[in-house]
Amino acid sequence: MFPSSYSLTSLSSASRGSNIAGSSSYSTSIKSAYYTYHVIRPGSILVKGSYSLPGDPLVSVARLINTTARFKKMHPELIIMGSGYSYPQEWLPNIAQHVIRSGKAGFIGIGRMVLYYPEMIADVLAGKTLKRNKICRTCSRCTTASRYRLVSGCYLTDDFYRSRPKYKELTKILQSTI
Ligand code: SF4
Repeated sequence: MFPSSYSLTSLSSASRGSNIAGSSSYSTSIKSAYYTYHVIRPGSILVKGSYSLPGDPLVSVARLINTTARFKKMHPELIIMGSGYSYPQEWLPNIAQHVIRSGKAGFIGIGRMVLYYPEMIADVLAGKTLKRNKICRTCSRCTTASRYRLVSGCYLTDDFYRSRPKYKELTKILQSTI
């Protein structure tokens, strides 16, 4: 149902179009963040109301890394951002370091991880021990909230969001059978 690799034809087309606009840095993406969550947003739990996780999310992480590397090889003149790094959690910095050092991406984009732990990268660069209680566990509560028209935020660990009335609403949605 979900192939392990994709044609880069559309990426090449996108690259040509963006060059016309004069841009030199790009973010790669595969499939749709609205319909194929596990492909573009690897996580331990998918958005409430979507399909069952079809396999190990690390396969999706590897697919994103390898696709970005292939695109980078096709266009060495461009600065390509790697994405899909939240699922590795504590190992995000190690994998990112390897990808950058081996030239598979120009830089790494951090998404959900910064919702409750925006200083993670500063901690890594300063050589500090990571704050494990602030690391994103890819539970998808933040995305489920936005899909159900609630304010998005880290409802798993951030007391700011967990103390909001909308947290109860989100809990009901998560406990429902839909
Ligand atoms: S709710 Fe928090 S832990 Fe869960 S995916 Fe979002 S940012 Fe990560």
